[in-house]
Parts: sequence; C-alpha cells; structure tokens
Amino acid sequence: MGTLSGTTQLNSPFGDQRQQGFHWLTFAPFVEEEFLHTYARETAGRARLLVGLALATVLVLIGASLAQPGGLGFMVAFEVLLVVPTLLGTVYVSMLPGRHRLYFFLLASSLLVLGLMINSVVTRASLHGMSFYFSSTVAWIFIVWVTCGLPFRHAAVATLLISGTYVWGLFNWNIDSTERFFAIAALGFANLIGAVCCYQLEHALRRSFLESKVLSELAERDGLTGLYNRRSYDQHLHRLWRQSRREHKQLTLMLIDIDNFKAYNDLYGHQAGDDALKRVAAVISQAANRPLDFVARFGGEEFALVLYGPDTEYGRELPETLRVAVVDLKIPHQRSATGPYLTVSIGVANVMPDTDRSLEGAIQMADEALYQAKEEGRNRTVVRDSPNASVQTGRFRGEQQRSA
Ligand code: GH3
Ligand code: MG
Ligand code: MG
Repeated sequence: MGTLSGTTQLNSPFGDQRQQGFHWLTFAPFVEEEFLHTYARETAGRARLLVGLALATVLVLIGASLAQPGGLGFMVAFEVLLVVPTLLGTVYVSMLPGRHRLYFFLLASSLLVLGLMINSVVTRASLHGMSFYFSSTVAWIFIVWVTCGLPFRHAAVATLLISGTYVWGLFNWNIDSTERFFAIAALGFANLIGAVCCYQLEHALRRSFLESKVLSELAERDGLTGLYNRRSYDQHLHRLWRQSRREHKQLTLMLIDIDNFKAYNDLYGHQAGDDALKRVAAVISQAANRPLDFVARFGGEEFALVLYGPDTEYGRELPETLRVAVVDLKIPHQRSATGPYLTVSIGVANVMPDTDRSLEGAIQMADEALYQAKEEGRNRTVVRDSPNASVQTGRFRGEQQRSA
C-alpha cells in the first residue's frame, strides 16, 4: 500500500489506469501482468479444447501417412518434430498458474504451425485443380484472430506469418493469376475483419477488467480513510497468519486507538473528527510500505497495522515512531488528558505463529497491550513479545463496551 495524503482518494494502479485510459491495448507494467494473467485464466479452457482437437487430428494424419508406403516425408517429420511438441507444450503450460506469457507464446506458435500445415495442404490441393481449398486458410485466419483468446499482438504476428507464407506459395507455385488475385483479396478481408473484431474484443475486455478491479477494491476499503475495511482485514490477516506459520516468520500486530476522541468530537464536531481520522490514517498507512504489510481501519477510531516478518530493529522502533508521528501532526485537542495535541495509544503483539498458537489469541495479546497503554495514561506504546497466558483476555474491548 502506498502513501495516503489524508484524502479519501484510493491509491490504486487499476484506478489510475482507468482514469488515464489506455492506447494500443497496453497497460502500465503491473496492471498489464494482472490483466494477462486473468485473460489467460479465463480463455485457456477454450483454447485447450481447440488445440486438443487439432492435436488429435494431427495424430490421425500422422498415423494415416505412416500407413502409406513411403509415408515418412517432409510433412510427417514437420508434424512429429514441431507441431506435436508445440501443441502438447501449449496444453501443458495452459494448466500452469502464472505462466501466461509462455502460454500465449506457445498458443500463438501452435496456431502458427497449424496454419503452416493448412497452407501446405491448400497449396498442394490448388496444384491439383482444387483451389476451393483456399477457404481453409481464410477460416483458419478467423480462428486465430477471434476464437482462442489470443492477445491482439500475438494474433497479429501469427496471422501475418500464415498469410505471408500462403501468399509466397501462391506466387511460387504455378497458380492461375485470377485465382491468385481472389485468394489474396479474400485473405486480406479475412485479416481486416478478424483484426477489427480482435481489437474491439480485447479493448472491451480490458475496460471491463479495470472496472471490476476498481469495484472490488472499493468493496475492500473503508470509505472515509481509504484503508482496508474490517472485512478485508480479517481475510488478509488469516492469509498472512497461514503464510507466516509456513515460513516461520514473525508477525507484528499493532492496534492503534486515538486517545480521548469522543471528547474531540464533542468539542470540535463530527466533521473535524472525520478530518482528524483521515490525517491519522494517512500517517499510519505510510508505515505499511513493504509488500505484505497492511493497515486497516479496525473500527471507529481504532486502526490495525500488521507487519510481516519485520526485522527486529524495524519492528521494535516502528510503534514509537508512529506514536510520535501522530503527535507531530499537531492536531489541537484542548480536552485531551495527554497534552495539547491529538495522541494515540498503541498495543503491539509480536508473535511467532505455530501450531499451539491461535490468531485470536494473538489479536487478544495486542488488545491487552492496548488496554495497558490506556491504563498507564495513554499516548504510549506497550509491546508484548510472547503469548502471555496470565492476562485476562479482551479486557479493553469489554471495558469499552461497558462504558459505551
Ligand atoms: P479512549 O482514550 O479511551 O480511547 O477514549 P475515546 O473517547 O477515544 O474512546 P471512546 O470509545 O469512548 O470513543 C470513541 C469515539 O470515536 C466515539 C465516536 O464519537 C468517535 N468515532 C468513531 N467513529 C467515528 C467516525 O467515523 N467519525 C467521527 N468523527 N468520530 C468517530
Ligand atoms: Mg479512543
Ligand atoms: Mg476505541
């Protein structure tokens, strides 16, 4: 998560991309990777079916050729050595997560080698006076452009090479010039219509990808501060807990609660309270600057910051740095019991997740530490380093509920 400047604006690469728009079917690198990943996942099933059918056909053709006397010609060698491995590779890689770039390369290669095979059949048929076969190449061009979910650029390279070799064949084999003219014109139209359809389809897909990303991000965020809301906090934390258990990494849970905030609201009004919440949220969000760290609005004027595997120096110093950073905002608070400015109390739990420790227990540890910070006079940090079983759990929240 990036820096929030105290506004409700979300810091989202998808939102930024949507605002900027996009040209020539390209996003900024991070967004592009996400898009290609989603695109590959959604279209791989369809492509696998087509490539699988093509593979079965090629295997039958190879079998038929080998059954004929002298069948081991150039075409069979091409099919066995190039077409079959490329198709098999495409089907295999289409099932691997995160290999979308290789997958698209292999899919484009598969459609290309199949196209070359079709060209060879069509050219030979034309030589025997069966020129109507050329419609197979035209049909294949359409298939490459629109049916397999190939990105525009990949489809463009594959169709260009298929069309190029076909036209080369038309000029190098002894084919009637009128026939040649019609074949080239049909191929040109097929490419034009296919390219327009492919471009428009991908453009629409990219737009709806950005829309859905922005919407799902909005559902994860708190409307006032732009931080993660409680629901996504729970999801992220459970995932991080499992990951830190697997990787034997420490988790630092911090609960940060604004001091005497009810009095602040009473004195300065709800709108000023909201503004103060946003400014404090912006400061806290700056602390979560490593990829797996995150910060959420835990409830009313309470925030949660989770650090994944912090090195000890960083983890030890951060709570105090944060507390001082909030004081340094110098938000006037005349009815504060801790001084002239708005302050926070911070409860910290450093835990090493293992099998006899629960996430709920870790949250309660942080809650206990926060309670202690409030008891000891507020505007301070209390750190717990082990699951201290002697403390009674959930006291701070229980106390708050009684006083509410
Ligand atoms: P303590 O130092 O013990 O934390 O005292 P406190 O007054 O901060 O705690 P208490 O739980 O009594 O009051 C929290 C106040 O936070 C109550 C409510 O008016 C305010 N609050 C909660 N959510 C919002 C919000 O979204 N906007 C504003 N302006 N105020 C909020
Ligand atoms: Mg408070
Ligand atoms: Mg509170």
